[in-house]
Amino acid sequence: MVQIRLTNSKTRRKEDFRPIDPENVRMYLCGPTVYDRAHLGNARPVVVIDVLDRLLRHAYGADAVTYVRNFTDVDDKINATALQRKEAGAAGTLEELIRERTEKTIGWYHQDMDALGAARPDHEPRATEYIAEMVAMIETLIARGHAYAAEGHVLFEVRTFEEYGRLSGRSVDDMIAGARVEVSPFKRDPMDFVLWKPSTEDLPGWDSPWGRGRPGWHIECSAMSEKLLGTNFDIHAGGIDLQFPHHENEIAQSCCAHPHSEFARVWLHNEMLQVEGKKMSKSLGNFFTVRDLLDEGVPGEVIRFVLLSTHYRKPMDWTAEKAAQARDTLWEWRKLTAGVAPSAADPRVIEALADDLNTAGALSVLHGLKGDPAALLASAQLIGLLGEDLGAWFASSGDADGPDLDALLKSASSKFVDIRDNAKITKDFSALDGYKSALTEAGVEVRMTKEGVDLVAGPRLDLGKLKALL
Ligand SMILES: [Zn+2]
Repeated sequence: MVQIRLTNSKTRRKEDFRPIDPENVRMYLCGPTVYDRAHLGNARPVVVIDVLDRLLRHAYGADAVTYVRNFTDVDDKINATALQRKEAGAAGTLEELIRERTEKTIGWYHQDMDALGAARPDHEPRATEYIAEMVAMIETLIARGHAYAAEGHVLFEVRTFEEYGRLSGRSVDDMIAGARVEVSPFKRDPMDFVLWKPSTEDLPGWDSPWGRGRPGWHIECSAMSEKLLGTNFDIHAGGIDLQFPHHENEIAQSCCAHPHSEFARVWLHNEMLQVEGKKMSKSLGNFFTVRDLLDEGVPGEVIRFVLLSTHYRKPMDWTAEKAAQARDTLWEWRKLTAGVAPSAADPRVIEALADDLNTAGALSVLHGLKGDPAALLASAQLIGLLGEDLGAWFASSGDADGPDLDALLKSASSKFVDIRDNAKITKDFSALDGYKSALTEAGVEVRMTKEGVDLVAGPRLDLGKLKALL
């Protein structure tokens, strides 16, 4: 087996990956806060880590990986969304509306990530189901002198953890200068962050030694990863935007609660996603969710391909042009591999993936495998492409050059020739031009030849439209 190498944010180096226990490789990815549809940027780490999950299972065994991704189902944005709905007249208590919203959003999330071919993790813990573990961890942090209670809050005292800032390479003083830190009268230091906060009667809350309240965001990942993966595990992943403060805070909590533990051995951070060269934002009008794209008819497999076409450590630019090219490529590959049984994955694809998840490199190897459809299929399936699960779009696009399609194209070309011959006599070419653009519109490529015309089905073939032209 080829040696897997990963760039570890903690050491800033590409390192050989050596699992703590090769029979149980343990990995954690920070999951979504469930109050709305996932946007395209949210899908990037999910697809990247899905490829890593597949690679690890390929290397260590299908059952030798434990992959955990959480759902943050207690959060002020969730509460605010529910409150808005209540004020707009929705029936039910605030708690019911919150529950309804988080359940619905988790369902959406599953549908959307399934559509991208991302396998579900082994565990998907919800924060609200681990409150007792969070309270216990906070009590340990207080007992060890790393946290203090004040006015119903519990805060982590950042200055008690010397290594704070090491992951993101910042000093605490720089962070205070650069960050918008919330100054509160009960904080000993502006950098101290919330482990627990009080809840008013109308907000979700749990009983605790500090009164009725709810956990801060950071503590949930520390508590849930410990419960499901132990105090030391192999890989912790997430977007680069989470490195500070979220991941710094996770490290501080876990390492201070368990002073001899390493917490996560390797930290993987993916860069951000842009759209057509610009930051995705609601004000620029280029903000869209995975569901928006799926509803527009962009197949999940195409989205997956585009997300994998840029290395995870580089900023990724989503463009309509890339999506169109990916669709053409996948269409061609699916056509080539239709009815073919997969052989073995090409070793160069595995090597590219083992080299810090070079998915762009793996895709370029795939481009060179068109002469060997069985290897193309096996290699593509290793990164979650060309599987049956993502093939519905192709099946409905007039996939096979069956007799039906051949016959349709033949009668379209004889009609084309008739119109052209007529145009030559009348010198009026408008009907011919109209027919030509209607064919293009139906996804048929029109190639003029000396003898006449050659009509070729393209990747966007619409059988219905073609039939209407005969
Ligand atoms: Zn997290």
